[in-house]
Amino acid sequence: MKFGGTSVEDAGAIERIAQIVTTRRTQGMQPIVVVSAMAKVTDMLLTSGNAAGRGDRNGALAISARLRNRHLEVASRLLSPATCPAICKVVDAEFDSLDEVLRGLAAVGELTARTTDLVASFGERLSSRIIAEAFAERGLNAVHIDARTCIATDAQHGRAVPQDDLIAERLAASVLPLSQAGKTVVMGGFIGSTAAGVTTTLGRGGSDFTAALVGGALDADAIEIWTDVDGIMTTDPRVCPDALRVKTISFEEAAELAYFGAKVLHPATILPAVRKNIPVLVLNSRNPENDGTRIISIAPHCRSPFKSIAAKRKLTIIDVVASRMLMSHGYLKAIFDVFDRHKCPVDMVSTSEVSVSLTVDSNEKLPEIAADLGDLADVKYEGRKALICLVGQNIRGQNGIAAQVFNAIRHINVRMISQGASEINMSFMIDEDDANEAIRSLHAAFFADPDPDIFDVEARTIAQTVLEAGSRS
Ligand code: ADP
Ligand code: ASP
Ligand code: MG
Repeated sequence: MKFGGTSVEDAGAIERIAQIVTTRRTQGMQPIVVVSAMAKVTDMLLTSGNAAGRGDRNGALAISARLRNRHLEVASRLLSPATCPAICKVVDAEFDSLDEVLRGLAAVGELTARTTDLVASFGERLSSRIIAEAFAERGLNAVHIDARTCIATDAQHGRAVPQDDLIAERLAASVLPLSQAGKTVVMGGFIGSTAAGVTTTLGRGGSDFTAALVGGALDADAIEIWTDVDGIMTTDPRVCPDALRVKTISFEEAAELAYFGAKVLHPATILPAVRKNIPVLVLNSRNPENDGTRIISIAPHCRSPFKSIAAKRKLTIIDVVASRMLMSHGYLKAIFDVFDRHKCPVDMVSTSEVSVSLTVDSNEKLPEIAADLGDLADVKYEGRKALICLVGQNIRGQNGIAAQVFNAIRHINVRMISQGASEINMSFMIDEDDANEAIRSLHAAFFADPDPDIFDVEARTIAQTVLEAGSRS
């Protein structure tokens, strides 16, 4: 069971998840709990690290002081006078050590990927300690495990790659016996460590990934991702409030959605589950009675072409034009070699005889990449783009879908189009400022008459009734 930032954001939220875990235990299950940092904590830690790296010692320490107070307050609200002082001492010691790191960074005036990981790791280290203690006091027989002792990774700081075999070995040695002895193991998500014991992170949103790694390694019956929405929805409900819950979705579809920006799941979450065919459930910690979304290997037939619409923002389009390369072989290889050298992932590609357009989401290396590409061709790049991705198994073999898609957004300028690579997604690139409008238009076009077997239409009916009753009164 993984609980995200908003599910552990304060004492009330932690009380709620203690209840949810208790329910699972009374149902005869033996949950292992992975928690995120409390909401916004990772962002604030990164801001403090950046401030320190710029030499702003006081700014960095002020953020850390606010975080210290927040954690101490949550601990004191949750814990009895008997256990609170001991945990507050642990919290204080962690913050003392964070402050020491921040002072060091400010003195040197430099922040590396390695120290960024160290600073970011405090969120999960702290939340997991407090939550384990709160669970223990609420009869959950809880023990805390430092995730860094089990989640072995390589040394690619910021997006470290887990070492599956080592993780399985370590979890089997440390976590499994505790779980089998009836303990509720609580660990932080997102964090790991290298063979040399250096702290790493799995990338933003990586607690989902930790949960899937643990679930996969220990052959869990299910991996539950508890968050702040009712499940995977037909699109981000923050953009489109009438988004519907998708009841069932395939691994393949969920992976595409996650990769193309549906923040509800970390893109790598699905992998360990797919390998072992473990169902993944996305559930709402504020509405635990709801069935959520079930991600399984083969989803049932759905009469609408799409299950959900995702958007990935802050992308850059790079246009590479080389007339002198006309008909030559090795052209694409030479271009991709450049991205490879800079370890820069490419999202979408579109080619013609003499030009290639690519999209990337990490901007920091762009000047160097453009300079290297400049040796091969003329290069232009343009930021503030968004990739809109429609996902659904039924795209295969249905006629006229592209026409419907582009008709729905005919008022919006489309820069690049891609379909076919996975057979289950259709994506296109537009200006970021048009993204919300495009999503709403597509949602209105494709989810006006949703298949009740796949989508939770009852929720929409209830919401509409409430709305109509409100407007009548
Ligand atoms: P957590 O902290 O629990 O990991 P996240 O903020 O990472 O939660 O992910 C949940 C958020 O993902 C939701 O609040 C929602 O705004 C966003 N989201 C984006 N796309 C979707 C989608 N298709 N379905 C559900 N939520 C989505
Ligand atoms: N706390 C980390 C983040 O905000 C990991 C996570 O929440 O999944 O990115
Ligand atoms: Mg998340």
